[in-house]
Amino acid sequence: MIDFRLSEEHEALRRTVRDFARSEIAPVIGGYYEREEFPYELIARMAEMGLFGLPFPEEFGGMGGDYFALCVALEELARVDSSVAATLEAAVSLGAMPIFRFGTPEQKRRWLPELCSGEALGAFGLTEPGGGSDAGATRTTAKRDGGEWVINGSKSFITNSGTKLTQLVTITAVTGTKPDGTKEISTIIVPSGTPGFTVARKYSKVGWNASDTHELSFVDCRVPVANLVGEAGRGYAQFLSILDEGRIAIAAIGAGLAQGCVDECLRYVREREAFGHPIGEYQAIQFKIADMEVRAHSARLAYYAAASKMSGGEPFKKEAAIAKLVSSDAAMDNSRAATQIFGGYGFMNEFPVGRFYRDAKILEIGEGTSEIQRLLIARSLGVG
Ligand SMILES: Cc1cc2nc3c(=O)[nH]c(=O)nc-3n(C[C@H](O)[C@H](O)[C@H](O)COP(=O)(O)OP(=O)(O)OC[C@H]3O[C@@H](n4cnc5c(N)ncnc54)[C@H](O)[C@@H]3O)c2cc1C
Repeated sequence: MIDFRLSEEHEALRRTVRDFARSEIAPVIGGYYEREEFPYELIARMAEMGLFGLPFPEEFGGMGGDYFALCVALEELARVDSSVAATLEAAVSLGAMPIFRFGTPEQKRRWLPELCSGEALGAFGLTEPGGGSDAGATRTTAKRDGGEWVINGSKSFITNSGTKLTQLVTITAVTGTKPDGTKEISTIIVPSGTPGFTVARKYSKVGWNASDTHELSFVDCRVPVANLVGEAGRGYAQFLSILDEGRIAIAAIGAGLAQGCVDECLRYVREREAFGHPIGEYQAIQFKIADMEVRAHSARLAYYAAASKMSGGEPFKKEAAIAKLVSSDAAMDNSRAATQIFGGYGFMNEFPVGRFYRDAKILEIGEGTSEIQRLLIARSLGVG
């Protein structure tokens, strides 16, 4: 049976997050964005609401929901602001999820309760200065020395890695060579504050300006061998599967941003007058808004379809790639159209559409660029 209606729980969550985003995020986020400041107060409120524990079982302090619940919350947040949505997405689907999916019982007990509570944030370190798309090209190394891994290397563009709440980053590192001569890549937890682990410069970004992004460096950084996540040599596969899920979450953010553009325009075109009429009376504007609604709707359906396959236990790699592609295109196109509808005010920081315009671009880059999504889709069709 095809049923796109939300369950009562998902609908209640959507309403709660929507109300929160409109009443508490919308009035203040512009200031954080301009100051390029991490919004600790908003993150604390999201933690109180249980958003950081949404898809995790109650035994680890989670809310016992599912991955789709996380996506619904992300869509509603991104409808108002993408920096807070990105912070939640990275904390849950990239920070905590590798430990939940692949960690040892001890690692889950040690880290998940605080990550689920939102009092601590986790980060995910895959991308390196030498490249992010080619995830197997990892140069960071972790050499075994007695009971420790000795890590050397660096990571680029890591979300949530430098906040006061950050407690760990899970990284990929080369831990040896496989019998076929290829790199053995493993996932290792590096707690914040470990000697030799430096949270380096904070990036100045085009968008997501109220989210936290840093470069990381590891120089003879020692962590216990017990910080290995799952088996040695499984890191590459673990990170790819985390990214498959993460793409559905990013698609939800894109759908939210695309819908947020419609929300803003609907208000504006009724108020703004040109040539003696509200601009919403002009068909050129009406058609732009209709196209925007179509794109937001299509993005939502695309991520619902991917999430539905994921929760049904079916393969969803292709659907996740399609959802991310459709949704990031929708976010880009809608934010460009919305900025145009706002005219000169669209270019001013006092209106959210300019922020949406700047925030949309990263959706075509992070967690696999649009080119990589196309490669995955083509591969799933047997081409390439
Ligand atoms: C704000 C922000 C937050 C981020 N957060 C994180 C994070 O938390 N953790 C993390 O690990 N990473 C993070 N990233 C990194 C992000 O995932 C990478 O930037 C992305 O995967 C692309 O990698 P790259 O920048 O090295 O580009 P490259 O891999 O160098 O690609 C450059 C260009 O070449 C294209 N290209 C590459 N290979 C091919 C190919 N085979 N065929 C066709 N085209 C190709 C790409 O599509 C792109 O257009 C973040 C990035 C940003 C900007």
